[in-house]
Amino acid sequence: MNMKRYAATLIIGDGTGPELVAIVKDVVAATGVSIDWDEVDAGETALAKYGTPLPEAVLASVRRNRVALKGPITTPIGTGFRSVNVALRHELDLYACLRPCRMYEGVKTRFQKIDLVVVRENTEDLYAGVEFEAGSEVARYLVERSKGKIRPSAAISLKPISPEGTARIVTFAFEYARKHGRRKVTAVTKANIMKYTDGLFLATAREIAGRYGDIAYEERLVDNMCMQLVQKPELYDVLVLPNLYGDIISDLCAGLVGGLGVAPGANYGDDYAVFEAVHGSAPKYTGQHKVNPSALLLSAVLMLEHLGEVEAARRMERAIADVIREGRAVTYDLGGSSRNDEMAAAIIARLRG
Ligand code: NAD
Repeated sequence: MNMKRYAATLIIGDGTGPELVAIVKDVVAATGVSIDWDEVDAGETALAKYGTPLPEAVLASVRRNRVALKGPITTPIGTGFRSVNVALRHELDLYACLRPCRMYEGVKTRFQKIDLVVVRENTEDLYAGVEFEAGSEVARYLVERSKGKIRPSAAISLKPISPEGTARIVTFAFEYARKHGRRKVTAVTKANIMKYTDGLFLATAREIAGRYGDIAYEERLVDNMCMQLVQKPELYDVLVLPNLYGDIISDLCAGLVGGLGVAPGANYGDDYAVFEAVHGSAPKYTGQHKVNPSALLLSAVLMLEHLGEVEAARRMERAIADVIREGRAVTYDLGGSSRNDEMAAAIIARLRG
């Protein structure tokens, strides 16, 4: 009997978030690992209740517990509040986003074998949120400096990439590869065009790669990477990318292994870790118990590993994989017609059985 108790923050999220986090709590409890969840709101729900999408209490809770599981959060497109997900990553310096893409038997895909890990830089690049409105003083200054290359009507975003930020994400990718017995790291950029920013990422990646003689290293341009991943994903192992390419390639890789319903994720910093699915709040399915809980459950598997509960993590992943393989109690995206709480009940029965 496991007597250890852990404390973790549970960010409930928007849309389908509440139904998914409720499922995760039940399934984790069925592994026998005891977690005292500190439940907090962020996103639209928090905005309505407290007047801010990211209340200070959320950050304080994660800082106290050092570990959090997060339901998906809605971000208004184009206008409205800035992404809470991005703000959390910045505030807690969660610089490494890990997105494993593994094929589970029973999930329909066109491929035989894919076992990829996407390591995305989480704090720099165009996601730093340094943007200038068209016509603003800074935009006007930059337009003038561009000597006709930027139209006066343009809004402008900055893409900061630093050697320190790049060194720590590439080191994270190599350390992950070494710890998990992986053979190769591929750095992905568009350094032929963005010579200073992506060029710096690439030069730093080469330097770090030189310290890891036991792991192969190669480079791809992001456009070619997309085609290669769609045609021969089995050639790739660990990918390391700046923020924007990492975001896009993660969804592409999720699609390769069966969709967002089975794509987990984790955000790590030196002090804190926040676990979340790749998918968003899927608002059109809110309250319907329709969306696949596997992505958030597999994120909780990563959380259990992080807490050192490796055996419980393996059992939980096996129970999820078994239910997916049998295909009797799976959600619509896996070709079934079960509700997500029915799928969860089947996973819990496996864990208890
Ligand atoms: P989404 O991932 O929420 O949903 C897109 C579609 O993918 C859904 O309509 C559904 O068909 C499918 N899907 C998503 N999750 C699924 C699951 N678990 N099981 C089965 N099918 C699933 O993306 P979106 O519609 O572009 O974004 C909705 C909101 O979520 C936006 O406000 C966006 O900003 C936000 N978002 C949040 C996060 C996050 O919290 N980390 C990530 C991505 C998007």
